[in-house]
Amino acid sequence: MNELHSPLLASVGVGHAFGTRDAAPPPGIRRPRQIHEAAVVRVTNAGAELLGEADAVLGSAPGVPVGIVTADCVPVLLSPRAGDVVAAVHGGWRGLAAGVVEAGVAALRRESPGSEILAAIGPRVGPCCYEVDAPVLDALEHRDPAALAAATTPSRSGHAWLDLGAVSEAALRRSGVEQVELLAEVCTACDTDRFYSVRAEGPETGRLLHWVRPDPSSS
Ligand SMILES: [Zn+2]
Repeated sequence: MNELHSPLLASVGVGHAFGTRDAAPPPGIRRPRQIHEAAVVRVTNAGAELLGEADAVLGSAPGVPVGIVTADCVPVLLSPRAGDVVAAVHGGWRGLAAGVVEAGVAALRRESPGSEILAAIGPRVGPCCYEVDAPVLDALEHRDPAALAAATTPSRSGHAWLDLGAVSEAALRRSGVEQVELLAEVCTACDTDRFYSVRAEGPETGRLLHWVRPDPSSS
């Protein structure tokens, strides 16, 4: 099955894709070495695929796609309506606890002040398959206790099922992102025919590449 697209981002003409197992990377893709933190790296020109360490990447070079990889974590692609500067964010629980979504949105706003920002949340592990323990919940709680409570369902003692997509959406809304779209029915662990999943397949599985590209005609 080929890559997935966000109707919201497509509606404003922003080139992008959420990867599946079979999807081919776009030519010229640039992406950070991901370390589950909240740093943002900015791409202003074409160059080598791998950038420095970061978990959000801002792209402002016309026609040069920027991306991140995941295998259960949450991919978020962002663009202002004009599409002249874009961002991709890797949201695992550690990065979300560190504020990576907020950092990515803030960086985008500095590049495109006053613009309406659109965000799409792609394939990620669903609450059906993502049971976490107290240290994970404790790390996330300080960001937004109410949003975390709404995203969790108690399971065994000291554990809960966690909806990382909902946690990411709450972070986008808190950051003032005007439009947020969650791709539905895309649990990476439930559907390993289409997606790579660390939970379902172990850490050595592949990674899905998700990318977004600033539009040359918009800049
Ligand atoms: Zn699932």
